[in-house]
Amino acid sequence: MRAMKRGRSRPADGGEPVAICPGGDEPGGKKDALEPLVCRMLGLLGEDIEREGLRQTPTRVAKALRELTCGYKANIDRIVNSALFRVEYNEMVCVRDITFFSMCEHHLLPFFGKVHVAYVPDGRVIGLSKIPRIVEVFARRLQLQERMTGQIANVLQEKLKPLGVGVIIEARHLCMEMRGAHSILSPTVTSTLLGCFQKDATRKEFLNLVHSNLGAV
Ligand SMILES: [Zn+2]
Repeated sequence: MRAMKRGRSRPADGGEPVAICPGGDEPGGKKDALEPLVCRMLGLLGEDIEREGLRQTPTRVAKALRELTCGYKANIDRIVNSALFRVEYNEMVCVRDITFFSMCEHHLLPFFGKVHVAYVPDGRVIGLSKIPRIVEVFARRLQLQERMTGQIANVLQEKLKPLGVGVIIEARHLCMEMRGAHSILSPTVTSTLLGCFQKDATRKEFLNLVHSNLGAV
């Protein structure tokens, strides 16, 4: 957050000065630097930024964007390190149907769905509640589904050092559904399989565990 004076400010791209929207002040007069940019965008879209329904919109949009991209600031080590436990268990651990919401980096439109995560421990497990937290850290960024799938798998492989990790994401992309031909498409499915999950038997076990839930998005 950065304090901005009411009035006019120069956009970061050096273009025409932008009128700061009326009514967007937070208590104390502080504004998010995103607010005048949202205001300018509304104006460029042909909107009357003075009309009542839009008076608080730049403030709301700035706040929503900060919330939806807060994953950049998360500390993965802090989330993971306090939740690793030594156990003699070497069967597959699978957490299915983790709901996520993210935004595609190409259009800044939502994509959302379910993540299925599994791993085979090598003497250590992670607290089950931490897996949805890890998913959230990577979802709350501007993302590509393919990259997010790999990031979740890689961070678990790196921090937990299991015998293998499998991650499957099935998601709907509003940038595909709302634009162009307005086609309602089947969920997009991506997967990353590391370590023992590249073996047929382990991969099949994972897919069997997940399969009953496919299509639940
Ligand atoms: Zn997109």
